[in-house]
Amino acid sequence: MIVDEGLIGPVEDHRGREGGLLVYPVYSRRSGGLSLGINLFPDRKLCSFDCPYCEVFPFETGFRFSPEFMGKALTAALHRFRNREVPVRDICFSGNGEPTISPHFAEALEIAVKIRDTAAPGTALVLITNGTGLLNDRIFELLHRAAAGPPGLCVWLKLDAGTEDWYARMNRSSVPFTALIKGIREFVDMAPATIQTMLCAVGGREPPPEEALAWERLVTELARLGDGRKTGVRRVQIYGKARPAPEDPLARPLPPSHAEARAASLRSALAVPSLPPRDSVPVEVFM
Ligand code: SF4
Repeated sequence: MIVDEGLIGPVEDHRGREGGLLVYPVYSRRSGGLSLGINLFPDRKLCSFDCPYCEVFPFETGFRFSPEFMGKALTAALHRFRNREVPVRDICFSGNGEPTISPHFAEALEIAVKIRDTAAPGTALVLITNGTGLLNDRIFELLHRAAAGPPGLCVWLKLDAGTEDWYARMNRSSVPFTALIKGIREFVDMAPATIQTMLCAVGGREPPPEEALAWERLVTELARLGDGRKTGVRRVQIYGKARPAPEDPLARPLPPSHAEARAASLRSALAVPSLPPRDSVPVEVFM
């Protein structure tokens, strides 16, 4: 299955991608409208993280990813949603896992850039990534060229924690925290990126004050990297748990006031003048 022809309109959740869809329409809070998701894993979830809040339910299909079919499905979806009241805001690599792990990622990105440039110039191209691909030189270079160069790939980098302890709770990965942060530092110094942070409670525990402080310091430090215009952190998006997850209720939503307080504190920290002058970094909350 390459695209759900029976779907009347975009869905509010991502269930279709667990049915083998390569391209699926979804209303995205963080995109601010309709997003066309590209799913590189129609057969099963594959990720270098194991977040307790992950919304991908266990599944297995006989479908295999095909760059050719993906291209056809993307073209068809762009055509289908052309001239709709709600325009397509972006084409987004996300899906059932970490896109940069897929052996098809580079080819799929190239195809998506070509189709976007021909069929929907001006539409943003987004990659939602947990950043672990940055530890691979080939992926780092690919993302650097795509984000800093003409494709203008918007890299949305997950950064859920400022401490090793909270990273272990939130992302349960074998990738060392220090190595991951080093890769993220190097990337934002050379290319534009959006930092995305999930705030939720895990196992009945909220992020402790020392975690909140360490995260804020880390984000502030990252925001000082790059030239602050064409490279560096372009925005910070804090979001909350809004959809069901297979491990519910291990991860629980926090009250919106928690996220608003964290965002307000970060905005104050980022407002301290820096040299040389740079664009301000918006901090958004989606709870
Ligand atoms: S990084 Fe994304 S896909 Fe991977 S486990 Fe976490 S939430 Fe799920």
